[in-house]
Amino acid sequence: MKLDILVLAVHPDDAELGCSGTIAKHIAMGKKVGIVDFTRGELGTRGSAEIRDIEAADSAKILGLHARENLKFKDGFFTNDEEHKTAVIRMIRKYQPEIILTNALHDRHPDHGRAGDLANDACFLSGLSKISTNIDGQEQDAWRPRLVLQYIQDRYIEPDIIVDITPYIQTKIDSIKAFKTQFFNPDHEEAETYISSPEFFDSVIGRAREFGKSIGTTYAEGFTCRKLLGVDDLFNLS
Ligand SMILES: [Zn+2]
Repeated sequence: MKLDILVLAVHPDDAELGCSGTIAKHIAMGKKVGIVDFTRGELGTRGSAEIRDIEAADSAKILGLHARENLKFKDGFFTNDEEHKTAVIRMIRKYQPEIILTNALHDRHPDHGRAGDLANDACFLSGLSKISTNIDGQEQDAWRPRLVLQYIQDRYIEPDIIVDITPYIQTKIDSIKAFKTQFFNPDHEEAETYISSPEFFDSVIGRAREFGKSIGTTYAEGFTCRKLLGVDDLFNLS
């Protein structure tokens, strides 16, 4: 299936924290959007890989995703090498997205930056026809997305572009809360972590509020881009 937007995320819940409002917005506009998670988040202190699989599927339903799959890379230890690049290229060529959204290039968790670099490298290499890949026994065509954006997750990074998500803030909150074991949930009995505190959840909403304020709306998500961004119609800018 061809997608319009493919989100590449190293941990299940990164896409929700970083860009689920933008995902929900574009699905409401009729775009096809999917997520490929790189790992099952098996090093997370709370829950387990199996529980994360269920939580990720629950979130996919809330967001109305057209596809979600997991590459089962090793959480914390995957590398940006030929094997891992090839696995990501296979997904890019499978879904042929115009736009990729991926992890921040520098963040609190070292996996995020490594995944952001891996995704950017794979997007470029996917366009080279002499790199041969196949899926289900079928040779794949080269495909290069025209735009790669990094969502801003934990560390504050000055965005290059901001997307208004005001009507979709509740969907964003609901998709994050689908990860019941990870985030603030007074009924959950495992030890509290950095991301399970009520303050962490407030900070996610506060970040969206801050980005919203900066463009004159209520809630928004910010993205960075390695290249200069162009626009055909100045009236699409706000
Ligand atoms: Zn993460």
